[in-house]
Amino acid sequence: MSEYFHSVTLDKDACRGCITCVKRCPTEAIRVRNGKAQIIRERCIDCGECIRVCPHHAKHAMTDPLSGTESFAYKVVLPPPSLFGQYKRQEDLELIRSALRGLGFDAVYEVAAAAELVSDATRRLIEKGGLKKPVISSACPAVLRLIRICFPNLLENVLPLSAPMELAARLARQEAMWETGLPAEKIGIVFLAPCPAKVTAVRNPMGTVKSEVDLAVSVGEIYPALLAAMNKCAESYPETDSAQSGRTGLSWGNSGGEAGATFTVRYLAADGIENVINVLEEIEGDRLSDQDFVELSACPAGCVGGVLNIENPYVAATRIKQLRSYRPVSCNNIAGEEIPELLCWDAAVEPVAAMRLDPVPGQSLGMMRRIEEIWSRLYGLDCGSCGAPSCRALAEDIVLGYSTEDACIYLLKDKVDAVRSSMLSLRIDSREKSAEKG
Ligand code: SF4
Ligand code: SF4
Repeated sequence: MSEYFHSVTLDKDACRGCITCVKRCPTEAIRVRNGKAQIIRERCIDCGECIRVCPHHAKHAMTDPLSGTESFAYKVVLPPPSLFGQYKRQEDLELIRSALRGLGFDAVYEVAAAAELVSDATRRLIEKGGLKKPVISSACPAVLRLIRICFPNLLENVLPLSAPMELAARLARQEAMWETGLPAEKIGIVFLAPCPAKVTAVRNPMGTVKSEVDLAVSVGEIYPALLAAMNKCAESYPETDSAQSGRTGLSWGNSGGEAGATFTVRYLAADGIENVINVLEEIEGDRLSDQDFVELSACPAGCVGGVLNIENPYVAATRIKQLRSYRPVSCNNIAGEEIPELLCWDAAVEPVAAMRLDPVPGQSLGMMRRIEEIWSRLYGLDCGSCGAPSCRALAEDIVLGYSTEDACIYLLKDKVDAVRSSMLSLRIDSREKSAEKG
């Protein structure tokens, strides 16, 4: 099996070992060892928080270069709803669509159009019943991986539908093949990624075996070229570039947009990774079972808050709100009674045992006791100077063999003090003995 790909990566030379990221990581996936940050790969959910906070710009997201599109005969670009909040000059969606074509893409497929289909399917599933409540959105890949690692019991609440990015890619490829007669491999499907979690989801898809997205290019990379192209075609653009989505789809770029599109009043929407964790704890404690739907976005304000975007999340969210007011409620609905298979998961989403101490339950219990015992001897200051995010995490690292008690500067000081006082008493003893002899 190939190794799990993580978009988030460290530039070791730039890292100063300041522990800012260690303290921020929601899954305690970072340690500083030998003066440099290290990511515990199994625990990372690619939320991008460490990229957001690193004062030395030592964390990055690995994305695909725009030049990668050159190898395809026909290129379709998938702009996410959040892209439409990135620009000041965005009188309408058509301008951005036309500018994307101006950059060399043969076709544009709005992710918001696929989002409207997912919303339609979600409404039908909620109405039909049979899903465990509250139903949790499966759209944010960072949240889905967080659930797999830290809240595996909640996987049965997760909506078993494809994320809009994946559905858009499938539909875009089908449409391109039909229109051009080209085989699937000649068509390049390019997603403009607002966050590292979506880049990771292309390489390690959840709910499907293989992603239909060929390249995930960061919004930050395409931003300047797209701005120049928008300025160029601002005066006139062809009618063929008319927008594909309505209010419902565009709203997915902001926190609450997906939940609002379920048309139920019993919903909760939370954004920002700490809030997401708090809500998942509430669900785990069975305190939200009266809600139909829970939308969770790892980034502040929703996808507009992704670290690969350029604009301030709240400014971008406001623009999307204004832009959508000129659109019809929805432009895309599922034809017929049944939800097409294309929209449904075709692979199971399993728990990830990244937090398990030992695969043997008896061993784990023993390790847990040792962790508690070591933790009780630590100072409980959670200062991070040992390179771990908390004293509890250091105790765990010691038991797992990744660190030692000497990493704690307070325990080390106690040791040094003890040695010094025993040397001092030895010296006093020997002086007294010499005085007696003399
Ligand atoms: S925030 Fe993390 S990655 Fe950035 S310099 Fe500090 S320790 Fe290194
Ligand atoms: S991307 Fe998120 S989970 Fe991964 S190391 Fe950074 S802060 Fe932690």
